This record gives sequence, structure tokens and C-alpha cells, in this order.
Amino acid sequence: MSKVVVQECENYDIGRVVKKINSGIEILGGWGKFLHEGMTVLIKVNLIGPKSSDTAAVTHSEFVRALTKILISKGCTVWIGDSSGGAIAGIAPTAASFEVSGLAKVAREEGAEIKNFDREGAVKVDKTDGALGDMYLAKPLFEADFIINTPKLKTHTAGIYTGAVKNLFGCVPGLRKAGYHKAAPNPKDFGQIIVDINEAIVPGIHIMDGITAMEGEGPTAGEVYAAKKILISTDPLALDTVAMKMIGLDIADIPIYDAARERNLGEYHLEDIELAGDYNVLPKLAGFKLPKRFGSTKKQNYGALIKVIDFLRARPRIDRKLCKGCNICVESCPVQAIDKQSKAINYKTCIECMCCHELCMHKAVKLKKDNPVAGAMIKLMGSKYK
Ligand code: SF4
Ligand code: SF4
Repeated sequence: MSKVVVQECENYDIGRVVKKINSGIEILGGWGKFLHEGMTVLIKVNLIGPKSSDTAAVTHSEFVRALTKILISKGCTVWIGDSSGGAIAGIAPTAASFEVSGLAKVAREEGAEIKNFDREGAVKVDKTDGALGDMYLAKPLFEADFIINTPKLKTHTAGIYTGAVKNLFGCVPGLRKAGYHKAAPNPKDFGQIIVDINEAIVPGIHIMDGITAMEGEGPTAGEVYAAKKILISTDPLALDTVAMKMIGLDIADIPIYDAARERNLGEYHLEDIELAGDYNVLPKLAGFKLPKRFGSTKKQNYGALIKVIDFLRARPRIDRKLCKGCNICVESCPVQAIDKQSKAINYKTCIECMCCHELCMHKAVKLKKDNPVAGAMIKLMGSKYK
């Protein structure tokens, strides 16, 4: 039987959050069961984009600060990592997102290290039986001794809900995320990719920041709902099952979770999930607004979504006039896609991880739109994240 700890936590007061996380972990066997001194722990946050913590679009920086303080007090080295969304629009705003969310400041102040998955390299995961074959996932996920997944409690206009299981999509670095969305625009198929990632990356603990949640048209355009909850579990599917029920959803109604249920990623029968912590009866979040699309029988136009992804598609290209020939890009490319002499990129090999773009000190690696109209549009909008 899986256990989900549900804690009441009114605000982001550090002492309060530390106390609630610690007492929750105690119920699961205590920190000693999971960690020991000297370990490197990666906190996988939800950093959907350059949004401040008070929007409830990202894992709150003070939540991460509390967890970082706990881990450092246990003698651990702390990494805070993610790769932002924005891939569909052909931009990769991870560095900006770390700053705007306040997470970079927390890292500086608490002695943690930011791991921007778009510049850390990628590791090939053999998944010939997976939904899309082999996957490339961010390197720090394989270098850390322990991973703590810290999703945000949010709605999702397309997927209806996003939580612990879906948060691991950010393990895919750079623009490759857009390729996955294109290959599986249907939530049911996309769910297979999410499960592939969850099978490759298995965080030891999942701690959901539901102190403030996002209701309505999440994951970025919804409103803040004071849910005042922290959910903790070693089972991401059980955690999401409980979180969904709290906001008035049944996991069986969410197609993106079909694969997780079919492939036994965890427990999803509420009667087989033990609630613990401040609640032994499931709390309901009164008046919590779901996305308007939920319950609608109108079919989603996946063809249109693919067209948008194609229209906005961007790829790295090296501007030879700006290139100083330092070869950092060549050496850091995880799939050796850049020719040392010509600096031409082999797009058949390139996994669009963004490493070259992130690491070039001379701004010689540009993100160029395949479609010149899209490029002009983004320029016109003056996007500072392109
Ligand atoms: S990192 Fe930049 S400057 Fe160095 S070789 Fe690559 S493109 Fe040229
Ligand atoms: S060329 Fe290499 S480093 Fe650059 S995006 Fe492609 S795979 Fe990543």
C-alpha cells in the first residue's frame, strides 16, 4: 500500500515549511532512510518559464529554500535543476526562469548550485521499446546521488492537471521537448512518453508544493489558489491521485495518466493509498476552478498544434562571423553533431539539447527559426528570451 502524507501549511514561512516537510518525512521513515552525509541531492523543480514564485506557476523559491536548508543541515550538497518549457515556441528560457522565479537567488544565498539542464549535457537512455525510441535526458539526473521531485499543484489547459508524474518532462533538455509534443500531440500518447521518462528517472521522494496552487487556465495563465497543502510520497502516481481528488478530479478522467495506470507506475486506487500526516481523510479544495476545457466534448485539433510546432521550430546555427573557434560547443555536444572544422551542425544527429547555444561565450550559436515568418514575428514581439 502506498502512503501519501498531506500536511497543512498556511504560508511560505521557512520555519513552518521546514517543520512540515520534516514531520512528513518522519512518517515515511525519516531522512536517514533516504540520505546520508556527503550525498549530492538534486531538487528537480517545476520551472515552466520565466514566472515569479508568487504567480504559482513555478515551485515557490521559499519552498525550495526550506528544502535546501534541510538538506544542507544533513551534510548534503544541493543542486536545483530543470529545463523550462517554452520549447514549443522555439525558445529556451531556462536561465531567465531561474532568475525570475527567485530560485537562482535562493541557490546563491543558501549555497546550492543551479543546474540548468540546457547547458549540462545529456545522457542517452536506451529505450528501444519506448514510445519514441532512445531518449536523451539531462546529465545531472545521472550524476546526483538522490533526486527529490518538487512539482507544483496546478491545472493544465491541455492536460487538465499537472503534478509529480508530468514534472519529469523537464528532464528533457532544450528544444527536444517540442519534438516530443509533436510526435505525441494526443494526451494519451504523450502520457506514454511521460511514463518512459518516469521509468528512466526515479526520484526517491516527491514533495509537492501545494501551499499556493494554480487554478483555472494553468499551467501559466491560471490564478493563485491558497491550497495550503504539502504532499509527500515515494509514489508519484499515488501522490497525483490524491492531489487530483483534492481539486475535484478523478485520475480515470485524465487521459495523460492512462499510460501511467496501464504500466503500473504506482498506485492509483484511492482505497489502496494510505493518507497520513495532518489528514487521514482526503481534504477537498472548495471552489477550486478547473480548466474550462475539462468536460468539454469538443475535440482538440491536434493537426493545428503540430502546425504551430512546425511553424515555430527553431534550431541552433553557428554564425561563422562571430565564432572564435574555441570549440567549446564541439566538445560539449553530447552527440558530436558539430563539425570541428566547418562548424556545421548535423541535424540528423543533433538532439536539440541547447548545450552549444548555452555554452558559447561569444553568442555565435543562434537559435534560428526554420520558418522566416516565425523568426520575424518573434523579433517583432521583442522576445528577450530568444
Ligand atoms: S563555442 Fe562559440 S565561439 Fe566557440 S567554437 Fe563554438 S560557436 Fe565558435
Ligand atoms: S548541436 Fe549538439 S550541443 Fe548543439 S543542440 Fe545539437 S545536440 Fe545539442
